[in-house]
Amino acid sequence: MENKFIPLSVPNLKGNELKYVTEAIETGWVSTAGPYVEKFEEKVAEYVHTKGAVACQNGTSGLHIALLVSGVNCEDIVLVPTLTFIAAVNPVKYVGATPIFMDCDSSLCMDPMKVERFCQEECEFKDGKLIEKKSGKRVKALLVVHVFGNMADMISLMRIANRYHLKVIEDATEAIGTYYTEGAYAGQYAGTIGDVGVYSFNGNKIITTGGGGMIVSQNEAFLKEAKHLTTQAKSDEIYFMHDEIGFNYRMTNIQAALGVAQLEQLESFISVKKERYMQYKKAFQQVDGLNLLEVRSGIRSNYWFFALMCEGFILNRDEVIKYFSDNNVQSRPIWGLVSEQIPYRKDRAYMIEKAKYYWKYVVNIPCSTNLLVEDVQRISQLIINAPSK
Ligand SMILES: *Cc1c(COP(=O)(O)O)cnc(C)c1O
Repeated sequence: MENKFIPLSVPNLKGNELKYVTEAIETGWVSTAGPYVEKFEEKVAEYVHTKGAVACQNGTSGLHIALLVSGVNCEDIVLVPTLTFIAAVNPVKYVGATPIFMDCDSSLCMDPMKVERFCQEECEFKDGKLIEKKSGKRVKALLVVHVFGNMADMISLMRIANRYHLKVIEDATEAIGTYYTEGAYAGQYAGTIGDVGVYSFNGNKIITTGGGGMIVSQNEAFLKEAKHLTTQAKSDEIYFMHDEIGFNYRMTNIQAALGVAQLEQLESFISVKKERYMQYKKAFQQVDGLNLLEVRSGIRSNYWFFALMCEGFILNRDEVIKYFSDNNVQSRPIWGLVSEQIPYRKDRAYMIEKAKYYWKYVVNIPCSTNLLVEDVQRISQLIINAPSK
């Protein structure tokens, strides 16, 4: 018992999941038609206060559609973070656009100061368009990721976007439930501040539908187009007429049944995550070289993932991960920088410094909502008592 395996992040399915999924199966509504899909869309829109929501197959397909409805095409540049999961950036390539990689700030999210400097020094703003001098291409959009559930600095990023007429796509795949508690955006949720936002319900996210995603926006025309594109762009139901190239991206009723049950528990999941975060934070305070990264001030985070910085600790990042693993605790390093991955090495990366630094020291530690107080105690004690190698 003492040494049971503690996974990094696993689903918690102890609410109405079985009941709703059973109902979906018993009524025969297992595919993309069925009452749970619309119900889940309504519940998410209600929860994050948007004009609507469009359910899709996963976060990746949601981001693909978000770029399309934002009008990003093969002639455009999109500014993207390098410190993120690669699925945030791949959709930029799906639409044939060019990514340019930006650095992060101490929240691990896109650094607005460097974005601003890039716009000022590397681009020219004329006729309402921001043109990158090197390529002569238009910078059309910012793709912002709310890393680990923390909020990117949306106040600064939106100011830059407004000044240079950039669309803002929020990859809020990790951040459903995160919102501003103060300032100009008080009460506004991650994913709802820019032009279009996307959530993911992959197995390791804070709520899951097995696989699934949701597109949200305050722009009704965007929502309408997103629904159209995710459902094969059918313009006539009876005669099967289609007015664009659409996609088969709609969520199924089984997924949505899971989603409705999971959303009912989201606030309680966030409370548990916050408690576990605080417990770790307190434990690590006594240890030299260990530090849990903070939430941006003025934010209610969803505390999705916990990032432990091992800078100046007796073990380096890889040794920490190995030590945990030897003791039946799963942990992992942060993602390899996207700008350094094989398909992206030829794309421009602008002044990447902090991302390299955080890459070197961050270890993600267990954060599931079914993690017990005793589990956090065991993990903290392990690392506090870690022998130097
Ligand atoms: C999970 C995730 C995605 C992709 O979501 P899927 O539902 O797995 O397709 C995209 N971006 C980030 C930052 C993610 O963490």
